[in-house]
Amino acid sequence: MARNKSEESCGTKSHVAMGLCPICQQENGEVILDARLQDSLCRHVMTPDVCDECKEKYLSKGVLLLAPKSCRAIVLKDEAFREMINIPIPKGKVCFVKEPAMDILMTMIPKDNEASSTEDEPCST
Ligand SMILES: [Zn+2]
Repeated sequence: MARNKSEESCGTKSHVAMGLCPICQQENGEVILDARLQDSLCRHVMTPDVCDECKEKYLSKGVLLLAPKSCRAIVLKDEAFREMINIPIPKGKVCFVKEPAMDILMTMIPKDNEASSTEDEPCST
């Protein structure tokens, strides 16, 4: 059985970074090895791994939306997610979105409405 060496000779150094919880921006203890980090100067990268605290606080009632390129993250409540995104809630309660989608989402979410239980009235257009 021939086994392909996958790019082992490509780089000698490993690029190590600490993972950040996308919600609270705290280190979640995860160490990331990723050659792509070479392009970025930051030591910390956003991961979809939410720390336990935030999991309990946010993902118990909402879904995390993550735009990895811009490191933006928002949490939508379950019902809001269903309404706005129109797909079933992902199993891990984490969903990657593209930048343009995140732009739209950011405008749809009132900034002061952080994890509060105010019910938004739908805008009539
Ligand atoms: Zn966290």
